[in-house]
Formats: sequence, C-alpha cells, structure tokens
Amino acid sequence: MTDEAAVAPEPTFRDDVTVELVRSSAQDGDVLFAARVSTAGEQSLDELQQDPARSRGLINYLMRDRHGTPFEHNSMTFLVSAPIFVFREFHRHRAGWSYNEESGRYRELQPVFYVPGAERKLVQRGRPGKYEFHAGTPEQYRAATVAMEASYRQAYAAYQAMLADGVAREVARAVLPVGLFSSMYATCNARSLMHFLSLRTKDERATVPSFPQREIEMVAEKMEQQWAALMPLTHAAFNEYGRVAP
Ligand SMILES: Cc1cc2nc3c(=O)[nH]c(=O)nc-3n(C[C@H](O)[C@H](O)[C@H](O)COP(=O)(O)OP(=O)(O)OC[C@H]3O[C@@H](n4cnc5c(N)ncnc54)[C@H](O)[C@@H]3O)c2cc1C
Repeated sequence: MTDEAAVAPEPTFRDDVTVELVRSSAQDGDVLFAARVSTAGEQSLDELQQDPARSRGLINYLMRDRHGTPFEHNSMTFLVSAPIFVFREFHRHRAGWSYNEESGRYRELQPVFYVPGAERKLVQRGRPGKYEFHAGTPEQYRAATVAMEASYRQAYAAYQAMLADGVAREVARAVLPVGLFSSMYATCNARSLMHFLSLRTKDERATVPSFPQREIEMVAEKMEQQWAALMPLTHAAFNEYGRVAP
C-alpha cells in the first residue's frame, strides 16, 4: 500500500444539499427597467420606490400575459453542493443557465455521499409520472442506509486502490456512484429560474403540477428562497399566476 492510500479520507454521509447565492444583480426594478425603457429610460429604476402599487401592477401584468423577456435582465450565481444524480437532472435545463462543475479529471474526488434523511419518503406508489411517496418503516430506512454506506465505502476503496496503482483519476472515477456529492456554479436569470422552479418544485399553487425528485426539489426550494428575497414582487406574481414561467 502506498502513502497516498494510507491517508485516504474516510467517507462521510450527508442527507442535505447546500445552495449559496455567491453573486447577484437582481431586483424587481430590473424588470420595470426593461419593460419601460422605451418610454421612461433610466428613470424607470426610481419608479419602484415612488409608485410601488403601479410597479406591482406592471410586474403582475407581465407575468399574467407571459411577457417574459423583461424578467431576463438580471443575474444570480449559486454555488450548489448536491449528489451527482441531482446534477444529472439539473443540467437538462439548458435555456438561460450556465454551469461550471468541479472536475473529476483534475482533482481527486472527496468521499462525501448522499443518504436519505429520516424525513425523506422512501416508498413509491402509483404510476409513472404521478408517483406518490410514503414514509418508510424504520427497517426500510436502516436497510437503505446500511446498503448505501457499504456500497459507497466499497466503491471509494476501489477508486483509491486504482489511484494508488497509478491509474488516472479520469479512469478510476468510473467506479464512483451517482450518490457522490459534486459542486457547481449555476448562473441564471429570473425567467430561467422560474421555468426551473415550475418543473422542480411541487406546489399546490401551480396550475401545471410537477412531480420532481425530492433531492432536486431540495435544491430548488433553497434557490427559490434566496431569489424571493431579491425580487419579492416578481416572486409574488409568479405564485399569483400559477407558478408558470412567463
Ligand atoms: C418530473 C420530471 C420528470 C422527468 N423525467 C425525465 C425522463 O424520464 N427522461 C428524460 O430524459 N428527461 C426527463 N425529465 C427532463 C425533462 O424532459 C427536461 O429535459 C427538463 O425538465 C428541462 O426542461 P426544458 O427542456 O423545458 O428546459 P430548458 O432546456 O431550460 O428549456 C427551456 C425552454 O426553452 C425551449 N427550448 C429549449 N431547447 C429547445 C429546443 N431544442 N427546441 C425547442 N425549444 C427549446 C422550450 O420551450 C423549453 O421549455 C424530467 C423532468 C421533470 C421535471
């Protein structure tokens, strides 16, 4: 056994995801600015404070009638830490999103793995596209956790063994499972975020219900919370008009 293998980090297990808003230029005034630029020009940014009722009315009108482009003149960059299976779903969102993910070629992947938390419903019933999830029994939680942790440990040991034998990281990583945590920067605007939220959250205000996997929904909920603080009028209008991206 080489020195590297001897100091291989011990696997750790997480049942949460993290989302940090690392940079943003996003406010309700940006929507007004874009919508009114033809008549009011730069003054439109001041109007939010001067006439909030009118501003709310304009944002509601744009949302209701699906005039989408004024919601694109803003930017939010999130640092997301979540399992690879979440990223696989996330990266399907192509329009208005930019991604940069940590590399498994240039750095050794750290052994942080996903296990379901106690509140994660484990049992699936119903038909494809409209599953219902129910709480698992304590035995099912134990079975899932024990099986996942054993599998993760074995996979990571195989990864480390290959690295110790001089196999390239980009080859050795093939044995690592989709429960491994990864991290990425994801940059979007309010319009692309609303489209993402409409598909990746389950909310009774939605006129078109969606049934996302819980783990990507955990990411989506954290993003929504941070976006709502930046753009409260736009967020309220999104909810008011059925959580459909304009
Ligand atoms: C609950 C759920 C289950 C899913 N299950 C599966 C599955 O089993 N298998 C699977 O492969 N995927 C699955 N997906 C992924 C899904 O098919 C979409 O890839 C994903 O939701 C991204 O949606 P989008 O294409 O609308 O988003 P974006 O790529 O961000 O596109 C946004 C919008 O831009 C327009 N657009 C973008 N690209 C084009 C284009 N090339 N041509 C025309 N218009 C375009 C469309 O109006 C689109 O809605 C699932 C998604 C959800 C939410």
